[in-house]
Amino acid sequence: MKNDLSPPYLCNLVPLPHHEIHSHNTQGSQNFQSILCRTSFYFNSFLPSVIRNWNDVPNDVKNNILYLSFKNSISTSCKVPFYYNCRSRLGQILHARLRLECSSLQCHLFNRNLVNNPYCRCGLVENAKHFLLFWKIYSHIRLRTIYLLPYVLSINKLLYGDPMLSQQQNTEIFLSVQEFIIQSKRYKT
Ligand SMILES: [Zn+2]
Repeated sequence: MKNDLSPPYLCNLVPLPHHEIHSHNTQGSQNFQSILCRTSFYFNSFLPSVIRNWNDVPNDVKNNILYLSFKNSISTSCKVPFYYNCRSRLGQILHARLRLECSSLQCHLFNRNLVNNPYCRCGLVENAKHFLLFWKIYSHIRLRTIYLLPYVLSINKLLYGDPMLSQQQNTEIFLSVQEFIIQSKRYKT
């Protein structure tokens, strides 16, 4: 979009880079001004999040205007932890949907204006935390998956892993979360 390699309706969305707003040339002059977001839904939407991603990329990568070499350099500079790719493709996809808040949980559907309310059948907001840690209907599945993990559990750890733990330990967490999601049959596939 920045280098006019995308259709105009996308290229036109790109805000002015810092160096066209401020005359001084600083470290961040290749950066775009971040977009003011009043809601977390908008904060996580495409343009604001892609601008944050762009601003985090090293300058030598930003200056790479050839599409393929940009793609190569970005894939070596932003490594996704390998435990994000453990187990089955289905398990990874369902887990990623929870992480990206675009699953079929009521709260995620509600945020995308697809249903009228964010509530679970039990009356509480049905978000990832409620689904993975609290909804009583899945207690028996939790006992044989997530609750077997020898760690203090938090929703962040279950969705993103924990940088303080080893790859092996994070893989163990991811496997058991994915097992829980699949056994729950909460998603229609
Ligand atoms: Zn519930």
